[in-house]
Amino acid sequence: MSQADREVVIHAQQVEKSFGELQVLKGVSLDVHRGEVVVLIGASGSGKTTFIRCMNLLEDIQGGSIRINGKLLGYRERADGKLVKDSEKNIARRRREIGMVFQRFNLFPHMTVLENIIEAPIQVLGNTRQASIDLARQLLARVRLSDKADHYPSQLSGGQQQRVAIARALAMKPKAILFDEPTSALDPETVGEVLQVMKALAEDGMTMVVVTHEMGFAKEVADRVVVLHEGELIEQGPPEQVFGNPHHPRTREFLSRVL
Ligand code: ADP
Ligand code: MG
Repeated sequence: MSQADREVVIHAQQVEKSFGELQVLKGVSLDVHRGEVVVLIGASGSGKTTFIRCMNLLEDIQGGSIRINGKLLGYRERADGKLVKDSEKNIARRRREIGMVFQRFNLFPHMTVLENIIEAPIQVLGNTRQASIDLARQLLARVRLSDKADHYPSQLSGGQQQRVAIARALAMKPKAILFDEPTSALDPETVGEVLQVMKALAEDGMTMVVVTHEMGFAKEVADRVVVLHEGELIEQGPPEQVFGNPHHPRTREFLSRVL
């Protein structure tokens, strides 16, 4: 089955975002299909973080729309077709559909690894403690940290903490996971283990949007590479095309700096 035939999980259409006078996203459209890995690249300040924060309702948008599994995000469609801002409660509920892994791991420092992973499934989804623990142990095995369940974040390396953050995102059974430079705050020797876990997730069919400067990962794992430049999507295609034969001069310029 080609990607185009698959169900669209994230449908961003002409997304516009400004901070005051500064327009950061100038009408960005992107479809992410189920099981697809999209790697988002572009110079610092091009709007990558802002774009994925919009996909998770961490930012509101001034124009365009974002749908997750066909359902509008942040707004409700009234019977007469008009859009009205969704309630905070619904926004909070929808936000859980999409997982997020940040540059900084944001684990709760006073909780063990296991407690970090079961917190949201219990508090937010209302799952039982036992079911949440069972799932957390499965996920810890998946990120190869079964032996760290009772450790505190401060006792782990950066790479281990980031793998816990991935397990914590997975515990919410998200429809997709957004990664914002997940390895750029890590010591070089722990970058590989995080990328390996992400690659395994991709192979298991997780829908992923990944902002990264790890071009090796992009070449190997991405189904599609998308290039942002000054708030516009200037180029996209399979990694071999974008890296091997970039069409846009700004893509060529960016790649000549990072490759
Ligand atoms: P990238 O992730 O590609 O480096 P960002 O999305 O972080 O880019 O930033 C895009 C632009 O938006 C930058 O000019 C940045 O300074 C600006 N920006 C980001 N967040 C805010 C904010 N909360 N308030 C004002 N400006 C912001
Ligand atoms: Mg960023």
